[in-house]
Amino acid sequence: MLFKFYSIVIFMVDEKYLKAGKIAAEVREESKKLIEPGARLLDIAEAIEKLINNKGADMAFPVNLSINEIAAHYTPLKNDTVFLKETDIIKVDIGVHIDGYIGDTAYSISLDKSKEDLVKASELALENAIKLCKPETKVSEIGHVIRDTIESRGFNPITNLTGHGLERFDLHAKPSIPNIPVGTEILKQDQVIAIEPFATDGKGFVKDSGSIMIYTLVAPAPVRSETAREVIKLVADRQRLPFTERWFNFTPIKLRLGLHELRQRGVLYDYPMLREESGKFVSQAEHTVIVGEEPIVTTEFVKKIDEEQNEKHK
Ligand code: MN
Ligand code: MN
Repeated sequence: MLFKFYSIVIFMVDEKYLKAGKIAAEVREESKKLIEPGARLLDIAEAIEKLINNKGADMAFPVNLSINEIAAHYTPLKNDTVFLKETDIIKVDIGVHIDGYIGDTAYSISLDKSKEDLVKASELALENAIKLCKPETKVSEIGHVIRDTIESRGFNPITNLTGHGLERFDLHAKPSIPNIPVGTEILKQDQVIAIEPFATDGKGFVKDSGSIMIYTLVAPAPVRSETAREVIKLVADRQRLPFTERWFNFTPIKLRLGLHELRQRGVLYDYPMLREESGKFVSQAEHTVIVGEEPIVTTEFVKKIDEEQNEKHK
């Protein structure tokens, strides 16, 4: 009896990872039609987050829409004026959570055909890395195959960006999953990890750019301003999952003062926008994987059987 009860609990946990992953995969595929020259980043972000909510889930982090040499952590603010251009390569990084269980997945689209090889390089690296997501694999072996795959296509991996473990309400848990052959940790059965190779035609190193659009609540503390208190209240149930100011409805001045106070008091952790140091193009591909003899890619898109039937009859 006891054993049975125990296995039901484990089953329920996995089920939420699978559900979050499935929604993330659907949103990823449905969002691709939004990516076209002339599209406004703010509209894309709002549409993607609405898709997540409409499927009964919540964002594990604000959708990241990082263009060209920006590798990660760009999410439009309310006054964003960026429109996609025909020469752009965009990384769309989507996070879904259900009750704290996360699906994290990303894709790149090059609107310029000449940069499609760069997109392919990170996709192939991800594909090869997933095959190694078995118990007892060293994380350095994953980094090795990612680096080799990207280099074999004539590009460089970004050395100071990594994938990561996923735990309930914890987006960046141990172990780090490197994009180069480093690290001593060993994968364990049923561990949930996000693998995210980044490829570039530049040096392969990212730097903080100074702009901050994404935060995490790390240490709630007494604060003076009403806005700061409101922000803490609004994001408290996210625990340590990241958020963005775009989700709030304060006046710009109140918001700026509130965030300033929260940062000064050490309440927030910042995720600064990351830029490729040499200013070159960056691509990213990401999936969430449950480690096992047969690795389970929770964010893999599974077409519904009736959809396939419909297509056959077209
Ligand atoms: Mn991601
Ligand atoms: Mn990730």
